Amino acid sequence: MESGVSAKRDDLSGDFERDDRQHRHAMKRIRKCYLCGSTENLTRDHIPPLCMFRPPLPANLITVPCCHLCNQSLKLDDEALMIFASGHHAVSKDGMWIWKNKALSSLCRSPKLRANVRKALFEVPVLENQKITTRSAVTLAVSRVERVLIRMTKGLMLHFYPDVSYLDLTYEVEMVLPTQEIVDGLYQTFCYDERGGGTFRFWRGLAAEDRREGVWVYVFFDGMAFYVRHEPKGGEPAALFGAHSGVSSRGSCVGR
Ligand SMILES: [Zn+2]
Repeated sequence: MESGVSAKRDDLSGDFERDDRQHRHAMKRIRKCYLCGSTENLTRDHIPPLCMFRPPLPANLITVPCCHLCNQSLKLDDEALMIFASGHHAVSKDGMWIWKNKALSSLCRSPKLRANVRKALFEVPVLENQKITTRSAVTLAVSRVERVLIRMTKGLMLHFYPDVSYLDLTYEVEMVLPTQEIVDGLYQTFCYDERGGGTFRFWRGLAAEDRREGVWVYVFFDGMAFYVRHEPKGGEPAALFGAHSGVSSRGSCVGR
């Protein structure tokens, strides 16, 4: 069971380290919850959720300030994303590790979750040894998964663009099975970044004239991909790959 898409681009790690230091420094000045704005009982929320990573944890994980109350309410959504992404039929070795060592134990602990997964199993065709065969994949609690992806986007907006107001935007999530063509197009057009190598790769393209409009692309375990688009309420939807004049190309992705 191998990932079908080659999405590796590890030669940029020096850039990431420099950018990370700047963003982490900026983050220390923000002392309110990134979801509700509370200044009480602040903790940190990991973007993406910590449960997506296998040990040893990467040193450069992104965290944003989050109040205890909001943080407590996120656990089930985080688990849903972990099960959904690692239960995909074409995940990397890290994805398989998460499925075996974390997702299955989450399922064992919760009969309700288990029942939901049973309902959500479906067969997908895969090519194996030159023959088409089928494997089970999980489509689970899409609304929960969407909630995590939108929340992640808010956290990444705060981390990378702390001056942009992200709370009152319209967010739209779309799931795609990545193809080599899509991934190649993303590298050419958008800013690329990653955490934990193949655990979480992400691209962003924000409108140069108004960063409240943009597209983020997330790939988990080199298998499952999601687009999250955002725009000011009542605005025109952003297009992918710079087709829309407002979405910046890699060169104009200022504010990294
Ligand atoms: Zn909060």
